[in-house]
Amino acid sequence: KVKETAGDNILIYSEEWNNSSYERLKLQHEIHRAIQKHEFELYYQPQYDLLEGQIVGVEALIRWNHPTKGMLSPIHFIPIAEESGLIVPIGEWVIREACRQNKEWLDEGLPIVPVAVNLSIRQFIRNDMSLQISKILEETGLPPQYLDIEITESMSIDINEMNQKLIEISEMGVGISVDDFGTGYSSFHYLKALPINRLKIDRSFVTDILHEKSHAEIVSAIIAMAHKLNLQVIAEGVETDEQLEFLRTLQCDEIQGYLKSPPVPSSFFQKLLCSA
Ligand code: C2E
Ligand code: MG
Ligand code: MG
Ligand code: MG
Repeated sequence: KVKETAGDNILIYSEEWNNSSYERLKLQHEIHRAIQKHEFELYYQPQYDLLEGQIVGVEALIRWNHPTKGMLSPIHFIPIAEESGLIVPIGEWVIREACRQNKEWLDEGLPIVPVAVNLSIRQFIRNDMSLQISKILEETGLPPQYLDIEITESMSIDINEMNQKLIEISEMGVGISVDDFGTGYSSFHYLKALPINRLKIDRSFVTDILHEKSHAEIVSAIIAMAHKLNLQVIAEGVETDEQLEFLRTLQCDEIQGYLKSPPVPSSFFQKLLCSA
């Protein structure tokens, strides 16, 4: 169980749901309904280059506009959606909506950047992901270089099988990032073998980078290793100027976090792009 889920939050919530099968069933039912009623929405969090300070990418993060519970964070429904298989239709909607939106901005003449979507390993197991992605790119007309995917480190899928799927996606021109890097099971072999473009250093290392010497050393080592392997590095969860400056001295390439902007609705992100 632990090996299949990424992130502490997710684990806590999935265990909680396990304790109440009634709640689980109810939630599954509600997710079905939500898809039909278009209650899901994507928020967008910009990613900034550390040298120039420009927006170089954006991560699409799902929200559930629940009729009675208000705006729900993904930690409240993504884990259960993964367990129940409902991540497949939700995930497909996420890719399509992110591509549709980015193409709309492109058509409006905005200086668009690649939009990153989070993919669950379950989506790879149950789907022909490369076919699904290529269909969506064709349907929406978004050029592939404006789509990125984020996957988490995981051993729950055969590495050769995963490699083949990722090669197909990479060959289309879609960028691939490893999310929450440092919390999972990546080996050097895996990093070298898979067609990865970028590592996203997990927020947990960034949070106390100034006060926890070991975390600073880990971040420094990740950045040096990534650059040796020709990978870009982005730090997640940057909240202070001090963290930003420290990451700059470590030659981190990009940052994402509340210091610059939280995830925002599409209309807000559009304004950020306009003023860029
Ligand atoms: P993630 O992909 O690692 O996304 C980063 C999370 O960190 C986001 O939480 C974001 O709002 C939050 N964050 C960003 N900057 C900061 C900061 O400076 N400080 C703090 N404290 N937090 C920051 P969010 O949107 O609640 O998403 C949580 C997780 O849910 C994501 O982690 C991702 O694993 C999952 N998720 C979100 N959207 C999707 C989706 O469409 N599909 C799938 N499969 N998973 C998703
Ligand atoms: Mg992510
Ligand atoms: Mg992350
Ligand atoms: Mg995370």
